Amino acid sequence: GETSDSFAIEESLKELAQLADTAGLMVVGSTYQKLASPNPRTYIGSGKVAEIKSAIRAFEVETVIFDDELSPGQLRNLEKAFGGDVRVCDRTALILDIFNQRAATHEAALQASLRLFVALAQMEYQLPRLTKMWTHLERQAGGKVKGMGEKQIEVDKRILRTQIGVLKKELESVRKHRKQYRNRRFSVPVPVVSLVGYTNAGKSTLLNQLTGANVLSEDRLFATLDPTTRRVQMKNGSEFLLTDTVGFIQKLPTTLVAAFRATLEEISESSLLVHVVDISHPLAEQQIEAVEKVLAELDVSEIPKLMVWNKVDKVTDPEKIKLEAERREDIVSISALTGEGLLEFCNAVQEKLKDSMVPVEAFVP
Ligand code: GDP
Repeated sequence: GETSDSFAIEESLKELAQLADTAGLMVVGSTYQKLASPNPRTYIGSGKVAEIKSAIRAFEVETVIFDDELSPGQLRNLEKAFGGDVRVCDRTALILDIFNQRAATHEAALQASLRLFVALAQMEYQLPRLTKMWTHLERQAGGKVKGMGEKQIEVDKRILRTQIGVLKKELESVRKHRKQYRNRRFSVPVPVVSLVGYTNAGKSTLLNQLTGANVLSEDRLFATLDPTTRRVQMKNGSEFLLTDTVGFIQKLPTTLVAAFRATLEEISESSLLVHVVDISHPLAEQQIEAVEKVLAELDVSEIPKLMVWNKVDKVTDPEKIKLEAERREDIVSISALTGEGLLEFCNAVQEKLKDSMVPVEAFVP
């Protein structure tokens, strides 16, 4: 195919490798194949299956991860083809794994809701696959136990649905609780600024830089209440709450987009969205698009936005980037690492907030 096409595939695989690394796996290699259409049985062609199989033996591979979502049948066939204890999974399953790990270590405030939505997404992912598994077992048994599988499917589905129902209720109560907390927060009329952006764009670095820098101060009491939100106070006395959100990635599975809404809900109550971009990344343009796509699904078009081109210290021609940012409206270029442009950033935030100030009365519950 075209070179740019291959480039996008390679970048996506690089991201998949990073995800695998985050999940604690050691990546020994990656490969891809271009087919007119995926093989319905094994997704990849038989030659590729053989090639991967020999790599599995050579490197004692335990897990094979596919960048696209595999059907339950393809998963099963690939596992059978690779043999032994090799685990085959797709991007969705890998992301769920990571969120599961994260949910176990994440800060108290987000812990409960994160864990719930991961469990929920996992169950919703399992539900359609359950039927396939039992149909398969039944066929294996040669029809001797006909009907038994069907009954089992119904039982399993009922159990899963009950669990999903319980989780949804719990999630709802966590949401209510957080909403009450937000309402209390709003009784003090401090505008909320949400950082959004692609994973690795530099959101948490920016949050830490701003609240650690001497121009600004951090309200420690507040930090202990909600570790992902900080009070940023400017020298001129004005202040705003800066809050970090979950990082976005490309090809977010649809089941997760729905689940993400729960944690991203707070975005819709912000006075300003700051979209942090890693401008040094070769696929910055695509990452911007991926974030904007998720934002579009969140229905936040009314909220003012400011774009931040981060990591200007890393680009080959920083002057060109800075000029381009200045030329365009609503963009500031910074380096969260070196601190360059942070004051300009804060001023831009202040300027934006001025336009969107909500009267104090509106915040009183
Ligand atoms: P997040 O996922 O958006 O929260 O991203 P992080 O804040 O964790 O940053 C991801 C990586 O980029 C880290 O290794 C940071 O040190 C690095 N980083 C963040 N900002 C900058 C920057 O302005 N310049 C450079 N060179 N690296 C940065």
